[in-house]
Amino acid sequence: MKTVVLFGGTFDPPHIGHLMMAQLAYEQTECEAVWVMPAPSPPHKEGLLVSPYRVRRDMTAQLIAGSQGLVLCEVEAEREALSFTVDTVRILQEQHPDTEFRFLMGSDSLHDLPTWHGSNELTKRIDFMVAARAEAPFEETYARVKEVLPDLRAHLLRMPMLDVSSTFIRERLEQGKPLCGLVPDMVLETWNRYAGS
Ligand code: ATP
Repeated sequence: MKTVVLFGGTFDPPHIGHLMMAQLAYEQTECEAVWVMPAPSPPHKEGLLVSPYRVRRDMTAQLIAGSQGLVLCEVEAEREALSFTVDTVRILQEQHPDTEFRFLMGSDSLHDLPTWHGSNELTKRIDFMVAARAEAPFEETYARVKEVLPDLRAHLLRMPMLDVSSTFIRERLEQGKPLCGLVPDMVLETWNRYAGS
């Protein structure tokens, strides 16, 4: 059985926190690859202003370019419907019966997991790897969520807290402030090209 880690997100824009967690997940699971999946229409960000899929996809590809084991996965873009993670996982498990999938997320997403469509089924299907974020301490969040989703299996990713977010970056970009390396230059160029177009 081989292992693949799935890393779903909005990536608007992708940043160094995303890259670090994907890289560490790759190293710590001894998996074949981490498939990074930008969501075409993220259900939990519906109604918010989100950059077009193609822009986020291009930036994500640039973020992981040259990193061994990190692969862009466009499986969610191939479907018409909203990209519910549970549907993606079900499809991938059917397509790859010889692969064990894990799902990588931040602890803020773990906190919100009970609100996700099909979360009960999702926790039966897949283990989670979780990178801690300041607002949701891992152990506490895990214990709370497990009360609601008893099948939950979540493992803490060993990673120094690097609590940068796309929201923080968008705010700095709006204010014209420097990003000090939080987003690689090439990614930033794509963002600026989109923002200026
Ligand atoms: P936003 O600020 O727009 O909500 P974000 O920075 O949280 O964006 P997403 O694309 O929503 O980025 O993140 C994808 C996944 O990565 C989520 O599960 C999120 O919790 C996690 N994540 C993002 N940044 C970090 C970080 N710095 N540390 C740990 N987890 C993170």
